[in-house]
Amino acid sequence: MSVRRSSVQELLNSQELEREVVVKGWVRTRRGNKYVQFIAINDGSGFNSIQVVADAENFPEEKLQADGVGMGAAVMVRGKLVASQGKGQSVEIQASEITVYGKVDLDEYPLQKRGKDQKGISLDELRKIAHLRPRTNTFGAILRIRHAMAFAVHQFFNDRGFYYVHTPIITGSDAEGAGQMFRVTTLPEQNPPLTEDKSAVDYEQDFFGKQTNLTVSGQLEGEIAAMALGKVYTFGPTFRAENSNTTRHLAEFWMIEPEVAFNDLQDNMDLAEDFLRYLVRYALDNCQDDLKFLNEQYDKELLGRLQFVVDNDFQRLNYTEAVEILKTAKQKFEFPVDWGTDLQSEHERYLVEKHFKKPVILTNYPKDIKAFYMKLNDDDKTVRAMDVLFPGIGEIIGGSEREESLEKLTKRMAEMNVPEHDLWWYLELRKYGTAPHSGFGLGFERLILFVTGMGNIRDVIPFPRFPKSAEF
Ligand code: ATP
Ligand code: MG
Ligand code: MG
Ligand code: MG
Repeated sequence: MSVRRSSVQELLNSQELEREVVVKGWVRTRRGNKYVQFIAINDGSGFNSIQVVADAENFPEEKLQADGVGMGAAVMVRGKLVASQGKGQSVEIQASEITVYGKVDLDEYPLQKRGKDQKGISLDELRKIAHLRPRTNTFGAILRIRHAMAFAVHQFFNDRGFYYVHTPIITGSDAEGAGQMFRVTTLPEQNPPLTEDKSAVDYEQDFFGKQTNLTVSGQLEGEIAAMALGKVYTFGPTFRAENSNTTRHLAEFWMIEPEVAFNDLQDNMDLAEDFLRYLVRYALDNCQDDLKFLNEQYDKELLGRLQFVVDNDFQRLNYTEAVEILKTAKQKFEFPVDWGTDLQSEHERYLVEKHFKKPVILTNYPKDIKAFYMKLNDDDKTVRAMDVLFPGIGEIIGGSEREESLEKLTKRMAEMNVPEHDLWWYLELRKYGTAPHSGFGLGFERLILFVTGMGNIRDVIPFPRFPKSAEF
């Protein structure tokens, strides 16, 4: 009878011992002596590997060596699942058959540890081999956590009656993008320019008949859906041709944007706080092995910091109060703060890490530093914006109550030079059955940065896009 293949994770959790099993995966390590060899196999199903015991009678070391049973090799192992005497594992496999699908020339393998100290490869170097880095413990952990967080996003909203809407990636409006958009066009062969200048693109003749761009946010289209379905969210890629030479910005990143009809700023803050605490709790409950590894390897305070977010309310205050705190702070900032200036990450992190020592929700920013669609307060100077600030990150969420009055919105657009002809449909949402509504955007990679404790946003997305980098 043929034995069905098991995943490593299934076997590690199995209570059914003394049975024949088959596992397929990659060799992490092989060690031992002339009597017995221990081979650790990982198949990605979890952080931990399973130990395969190969006795010298059936598997002499020279034969394992010759067959290529070494680090990185893809193998099939058949054997008996038995209780393990070894530390840190309850089961192991006594091998009866080992087949190698693909071996590795360790003299060439970029992931082979080299040099006297056998030090691992740095995160910077790993970025240059994005096709191999998922094989490392670190990126395996990050990718599994990323998956778990994406799943938890959908679960959170589904449980609360939100609908997932798909907003376009190619957009015809550039209202929000102010100089940060990537342009979309076809190859010149498909649309030969009609002008003398062969390099010029004639957008009227181009594929869409007008200039189009990659989206910087799904919000405006999300509002369309919220005005009919009530509670919606988007979760898709967004693109910004901004200076992403920071540890917090990518040119291509994923954003989650809930939008809720009849929610005001207060409701919006409650939703953001519930959402973030839910996601962090989900990670603590479901990604234990991966988080434990990251905690030990990179950041001994990671688990404590995650638990703190789950257990404590966020601090809420308005922008004006925050500016007062920053102006009287003992710390010297690179950029001085005054009422009306946009806060930099050094200010955000001061409030979170030094002053309040907890996550902060800042509200009611000056209208001049925020987007045209945010609802104006009665003071005529501030808007109902909110930014959620996290330790080690700074801004993790940006959101607001939206301006629902057609008259006020039109006035704001004129003041801020936002062309009406691009957004006629957005204005019509206010013309026909307008309603108060609010929403926010959570940068998915900033969430993953926080949950994994990694220091650079380029290390929490499989294929990071930043200036002068699009190898993969
Ligand atoms: P920042 O002030 O950090 O540049 P922002 O205010 O420009 O962010 P928003 O337009 O408010 O960003 O976008 C919503 C969220 O998307 C942010 O709170 C952040 O989590 C995330 N985000 C924005 N820009 C980037 C980027 N370039 N790379 C990764 N995440 C981003
Ligand atoms: Mg920005
Ligand atoms: Mg900002
Ligand atoms: Mg923002």
